[in-house]
Amino acid sequence: MKYLMVLVIVLVGLWFWRNNRRAALRERQSRHATARPDASPAQAATEMVACAVCSVHLPRPDALPGHRGIYCSDAHRRQAEG
Ligand SMILES: [Zn+2]
Repeated sequence: MKYLMVLVIVLVGLWFWRNNRRAALRERQSRHATARPDASPAQAATEMVACAVCSVHLPRPDALPGHRGIYCSDAHRRQAEG
């Protein structure tokens, strides 16, 4: 009878452990799935914007943001904004 109790406790423990593992796995998968759509740093890095003065296109990280738009260089930003 004592062994049966131990067996039941072990089985319940195993069941809990498996449930936890499955929940963790599902959570990891859903996190992976939700991370995929907004995980586009490469796309953001290659997004092209046009200079407000000369209309030249350049990658957004290289562009200089100003009050009236985005500029390709500090000279054009000064030219447009004074
Ligand atoms: Zn420009």
